[in-house]
Amino acid sequence: MENLIFIISGPSGVGKSSLVKKLPLRDFYFSVSHTTRTPRPGEVNGKDYYFVEEKAFLKMIEKGEFLEWVRVYQTYYGTAKSEIEKAFSQKKHLILDIEVIGATRLRSYFGKEAIFIFVVPPSLEELKRRLKIRGTETEERIEERLNRAKEELRFASWFDYVIINEDLEKAYQSLQAIIEAELNRPFRNSLFKKLLSQII
Ligand code: 5GP
Repeated sequence: MENLIFIISGPSGVGKSSLVKKLPLRDFYFSVSHTTRTPRPGEVNGKDYYFVEEKAFLKMIEKGEFLEWVRVYQTYYGTAKSEIEKAFSQKKHLILDIEVIGATRLRSYFGKEAIFIFVVPPSLEELKRRLKIRGTETEERIEERLNRAKEELRFASWFDYVIINEDLEKAYQSLQAIIEAELNRPFRNSLFKKLLSQII
């Protein structure tokens, strides 16, 4: 089986992490990003993020340890190159849950081995409601995330697929269908490639 890379992007609060966490750990490796943000209640270091000081993050940038990184919401977020090695050494598909700018930077890096999926809310009102019930950001920070969401939504057509996350179960079905379809593309399907090699 070929290892694929799924880049899942979309506005903050849209439910990207709830969606990807439904995928089985057996087949998927979830990239753990580094961040300078403080942990939310329940978040675990090394599982949800590697929570690091700004100084340590800047050092990692200097040493070229990130595949991509951004600074948004007064916070640094970055994907360490070592996450990719971990996924591939475990022979699993890699899942990256990152914001839009980081995603666009990875297209040229990964080529067609990466599939770019954009998760959108059914409406901006619903996104606001979700950010509010999450209860982890101040009113001001919620406004900031909403303003950024409007900018991010303009990127939708750049992605390979868009999933509307109105209902988590339906959104998950769409995600599974995308993964299944991508695994069955002729240039990826190893059984098909074997068959082809017998006739040419
Ligand atoms: P949060 O603070 O809500 O956990 O994350 C804010 C945003 O940063 C989310 O859209 C999340 O997907 C994104 N993000 C998390 N890790 C990374 C990363 O390593 N790189 C980039 N570019 N974005 C990230």
